[in-house]
Amino acid sequence: DIDCVYEALLNTAIDIDSLEADSRLDEVWIKEVIKKSGMKLKWSKLKQDKVKENKDAIRRPPADPALLTPRSPVVTIMGHVDHGKTTLLDKLRKTQVAAMEAGGITQHIGAFLVSLPSGEKITFLDTPGHAAFSAMRARGAQVTDIVVLVVAADDGVMKQTVESIQHAKDAQVPIVLAINKCDKPDADPEKVKKELLAYDVVCEDYGGDVQAVHVSALMGDNLMALAEATIALAEMLELKADPTGPVEGTVIESFTDKGRGPVTTAIIQRGTLRKGSILVAGKSWAKVRAMFDEHGKTISEAYPSMPVGIIGWRDLPSAGDEILEVESEPRAREVIDWRKFEQELEKNKDDLKIIEEKRKEHQEAHQKAREQYGTLNWKERSFKKYLERKEQRPLKAKKKAEGDSNVLPIIIKGDVDGSVEAILNIMDTYDASHECELELVHFGVGDISENDVNFAETFDGIIYGFNVNASNVIQQSAARKRVKIKLHKIIYRLIEDLQEELSSRLPCLV
Ligand code: GDP
Repeated sequence: DIDCVYEALLNTAIDIDSLEADSRLDEVWIKEVIKKSGMKLKWSKLKQDKVKENKDAIRRPPADPALLTPRSPVVTIMGHVDHGKTTLLDKLRKTQVAAMEAGGITQHIGAFLVSLPSGEKITFLDTPGHAAFSAMRARGAQVTDIVVLVVAADDGVMKQTVESIQHAKDAQVPIVLAINKCDKPDADPEKVKKELLAYDVVCEDYGGDVQAVHVSALMGDNLMALAEATIALAEMLELKADPTGPVEGTVIESFTDKGRGPVTTAIIQRGTLRKGSILVAGKSWAKVRAMFDEHGKTISEAYPSMPVGIIGWRDLPSAGDEILEVESEPRAREVIDWRKFEQELEKNKDDLKIIEEKRKEHQEAHQKAREQYGTLNWKERSFKKYLERKEQRPLKAKKKAEGDSNVLPIIIKGDVDGSVEAILNIMDTYDASHECELELVHFGVGDISENDVNFAETFDGIIYGFNVNASNVIQQSAARKRVKIKLHKIIYRLIEDLQEELSSRLPCLV
């Protein structure tokens, strides 16, 4: 209901902008805001800094180094199509399922853990290829610590090999080279290493620091060596995270499960996720109902670098969305509201720019008025303005007895200073553009009084009340004296009413 919004807008505006601040209201401007933003918003919500505040409020400062503990690496497998990425991932996963003995059904959760005999763990992201990697990066997510670059030994460096290298470099993620298909008779691993030199990927044999492992994903040959090389690199990177405090993570995948509703899989990057935690991600939030690992097993805690399936989302977040834990459900809702609002703002950016310019204009006008009227309060200021106007243009309103005049004398009463000033300010603009067919003969705060009625009677004027009452006694007195009292609760209605009165009084001028 646009009227309600309008009223809310006006009222909020009056609340927010204290009397000495910018309380100048422009009817057109507010209408514009509603129209352009296309949303039913409160004025205060237009404050973009508030959006930012709500976005950043839940982001924690960097962790205290004392709280950091080692974490396992998160690895993405990249390389040219058909060089064996999927086969490699499948084999790595199978080594784990075999090792699990239980032989449980593996669930696709976008990532899985490989445990080495040494007890070290590696998290492999399940979606091979740089499309997924760059999609995540485009969203600002940096989940990957290490890229395993797969190059087929029979094929050598190809287009997507080069692209993968570029992506890893852009993200400043180090590479471990997996020279694949070494079981093939025409495999030439040395050729691969040489070719890579041209792309600044220098293997250890050539004096560089890139470890190269000859593997056969198909046969499962040397995969442990690849895992160990990855761990060796991870140790050098000294990967650490703070496992305490509110959780941070990244959505790897999200999908709707028939039985469980929206599910996301995520990599935890900070804190420890537990059942009952309240999370926000993108424009969705969750109260964690359950968590499970890649074997479909329910888990009670998820630590940094752990892939985890999370149930309890209200909507589906997107891959790459940042997950942040918040303290309560209301807070989660608030954050989501602000994010949605921000999106709307973004959609209406250009229109809002115009609105913002208008607002600036008004602020400047207000500033000017302030310079002109110094430290006077609104009443003194209004009165001074009123006197000045009078000086420039003698009061045209004549007492009833003196006969007809070309003006509409009015009396304005409002509930609070702010509302009266707002009306006066709108009238000011109106005044200027219409060569004063309106004349304010009296104004003030409070219910309509006998004094107001007398004023109105004397000048044959109309009383306008905003958010005020007129008692029965006053109503009767006004009726006797043939004085119109018009009460409004919405400023623009009041202004419209005024304009109608004007046009009915001065049909030739409007
Ligand atoms: P992706 O496109 O990089 O994911 O490549 P795939 O894993 O789908 O493998 C492409 C083809 O290469 C498949 O036919 C695999 O069976 C085969 N392949 C993958 N790894 C090896 C390997 O180590 N040796 C041999 N001989 N073939 C392999």
